[in-house]
Amino acid sequence: MFEVAVEHEFAAGHALRGYKGKCENVHGHNYKIQVVVAGEELDSVGLLVDFKNIRSQIHSTADRLDHQFLNDLPPFDRVNPSAENLAKYFFEEIQQNYDEESLKVKSVTVWESSGTWATYHLGEL
Ligand SMILES: [Zn+2]
Repeated sequence: MFEVAVEHEFAAGHALRGYKGKCENVHGHNYKIQVVVAGEELDSVGLLVDFKNIRSQIHSTADRLDHQFLNDLPPFDRVNPSAENLAKYFFEEIQQNYDEESLKVKSVTVWESSGTWATYHLGEL
């Protein structure tokens, strides 16, 4: 099994509804996101998937969130914009573009700061 990953950063504000503590107040993060794509087969060039392809998938989702207040944007107007829910959202958005058996999004990790992250990943891996 091969894995390739692309990382990307974006900035956004959020507030965690129902959280008792500082994070219920409006604040911002410089989020880092890592998308890992996995598969068994390489193409004739020797690539699992072009990094540029993954990068453009991340951009199409992250650019909608960049420099926004996440709580105002679907689905985070209903779902709390925690790192966990952000990871799941990116996973579900990006995996729609990798629905072949041979190539899957394996995991998405979202860092809120350099030492705190949450991952959403395929159950069977
Ligand atoms: Zn926060």
